[in-house]
Amino acid sequence: MAPEYYSATYQGETIRSRYPIGKGLLCPICRSLLASPRIAVCGHAFCSSCVNKWLTSNTQCPMCDSDISNAKPTKSKLLSEIISSTELVCAGPPAADGSSCTALLTVDTKDAHAETCPYILNPPTPPPVRLAPAGIRMGSKKSPTTQTKKQRETKSSDGKVQQPSAAEQALEASRKITRRRIEEMKRSQNIPVSNVLGIKLDM
Ligand SMILES: [Zn+2]
Ligand SMILES: [Zn+2]
Ligand SMILES: [Zn+2]
Repeated sequence: MAPEYYSATYQGETIRSRYPIGKGLLCPICRSLLASPRIAVCGHAFCSSCVNKWLTSNTQCPMCDSDISNAKPTKSKLLSEIISSTELVCAGPPAADGSSCTALLTVDTKDAHAETCPYILNPPTPPPVRLAPAGIRMGSKKSPTTQTKKQRETKSSDGKVQQPSAAEQALEASRKITRRRIEEMKRSQNIPVSNVLGIKLDM
């Protein structure tokens, strides 16, 4: 059974952990794991880039409406250490045999690991997608093996199926009559079909 993970985003990437990532470690602006956390005077924490951008057009905290524009949000060693020690699991996909990477990572080590992880470097090959040969639209034509004799006969050299002409329709009708006559002769005279087919029919 595949293990269950909790996921979050961090700097635009999906991260996974075996443990829930605390809500207090998520930036209220971008909803990701805090990146370079900064604490505003009201006590709320944000990513450095998020709060700096927020303060270019706002003066109040997006969480509590306190005026946070007078003091620059400060670094938090404690939050940085908590985030750095948050245990992550490798984001590589499982291999074809079902095994998956067991490396335990942090936000600080995951990028270096991704450059060497065999599960990330050699993801299982998805089954090949069957594509129609170039120039053939899917569903527009039947393959030659499923075409009826009539369809092949009425196909011109440029591949377009043409409507049979009146003369061809008349010929097809006469052929039906011929076949019916052969059947009638066969029944009335009780002779093998092979003999009947040898007779030159006078139409
Ligand atoms: Zn943020
Ligand atoms: Zn606040
Ligand atoms: Zn890995």
